[in-house]
Amino acid sequence: MGAIYNDDDGASGVSQRETLGQGGVAAGDEYSSLCAQVPELRARYEAARKAGLSLDLTRGKPSPAQLALSEPLLSLPGAGHAVSKSGVDIRNYGGPDGLLEVREIFAEIFGIPVEQFLALTNGSLRLMHDTLLFAYVFGVPGSPRPWGAEPAVRFICPVPGYDRHFGICENLGVEMLPVDMLPGGPDIARIRELVADPAVKGMWLVPTHSNPTGYTTTRETAEALVSMETAAPDFRIFWDDAYGLHHLEATGPAPLPILAMAEAAGNPDRPLFFTSTSKITFAGSGVGFIGASPANLAWVRQHMGVQSISPDKTNHLRHALFLQSPAGVATQMAKHREILAPKFAAVQRILTGRLGAWPQLASWTDPTGGYFVSLNVLPGTAARVVELAAAAGVALTPAGATYPYGVDPSDSNIRLAPSMPPLFEVEAAMEVVADCVLLAAAEKVCLQ
Ligand code: PMP
Repeated sequence: MGAIYNDDDGASGVSQRETLGQGGVAAGDEYSSLCAQVPELRARYEAARKAGLSLDLTRGKPSPAQLALSEPLLSLPGAGHAVSKSGVDIRNYGGPDGLLEVREIFAEIFGIPVEQFLALTNGSLRLMHDTLLFAYVFGVPGSPRPWGAEPAVRFICPVPGYDRHFGICENLGVEMLPVDMLPGGPDIARIRELVADPAVKGMWLVPTHSNPTGYTTTRETAEALVSMETAAPDFRIFWDDAYGLHHLEATGPAPLPILAMAEAAGNPDRPLFFTSTSKITFAGSGVGFIGASPANLAWVRQHMGVQSISPDKTNHLRHALFLQSPAGVATQMAKHREILAPKFAAVQRILTGRLGAWPQLASWTDPTGGYFVSLNVLPGTAARVVELAAAAGVALTPAGATYPYGVDPSDSNIRLAPSMPPLFEVEAAMEVVADCVLLAAAEKVCLQ
């Protein structure tokens, strides 16, 4: 029996596959062959444990080989480049919207008018954090009062999702409402029910190659999100397109022009667009961008202008000089893909080879982009899988991290991040993960 694949069209018709079979444990002889394998599994596991491995599949960091692709940044902009083509002295204060040259490249890629697209800090997480904080303290355009003055503020959180989004909410006391992330985007029917509550002020969404499922929100779902009625007059979608350009195949979904779509739907202020070059150039010193309606941007400028006199224009300029154009970004992304695709292929090969015969024990996504694979194991065993793997020298993201408050109600989801280690380590780690998934399941179904 092999894994069963379900084809599902993504935003641009790019196929996404997910193995089916998550869910209940069937009774009876179904597990007899698993139980018969336990001695062999234990022996393999013990051998791995004694090998003193030190492997890490925890966080979605670019590998050293990927970082090396952007090595020229270290010597840019170089002497003689103190004044940019647009006439800005990058060494001085000023230019709060960020350097035009880098804004132009990414505004074009994401289909956002450059006047509505700012280049700011390194990374986008801080931009999302500060935006939510400003909403809390001041309210957003259209807010009857600051969000922090409301009796409760609730946010819709697609799950499994990105733990740092949840961390921002937890830090501010925003109540999180999990909603299933489906292959075509978050469960829109459930979202429609939730937004009837005026305390539901917003939602997170990673629209392309989502963390950790790799799912891409379809145009249809995006249309529904920007046009649905919400009880809160100031509902905001934190549209975090962190992986908008990070395809594992030669062609990928084109970014949805979400700001234009929202405007056409009569809700121009609903989406707040975020992205960065963290996984295009240097994760620690990329460029973070924000795109928004004129009203939202005026609000962002007002509050961010108090916070900072100017962004790091030297970093903006060296990015513009290095990447050059949308075509230059595409070339860079193709080089990332060459490094990443074999690692993702290895994860699929090993999961299918080792666990494909057990659709009732394990299912996983087969993303066409992004940085993660979402693995679902037998309910009630994810924490045990992570514990067993750690004891054998393989670090996995803590079970529960992909859910608000770190609690996965069915204790079944594990986020795999194969980008950082070299290929041979990804392979070694995945063999151990497969053993641990089976061992943890066997502990539950064979050994009581
Ligand atoms: N959003 C998502 C969905 C991410 O996975 C990450 C990085 N893991 C970020 C944002 C953080 O991005 P940045 O480096 O731009 O802050």
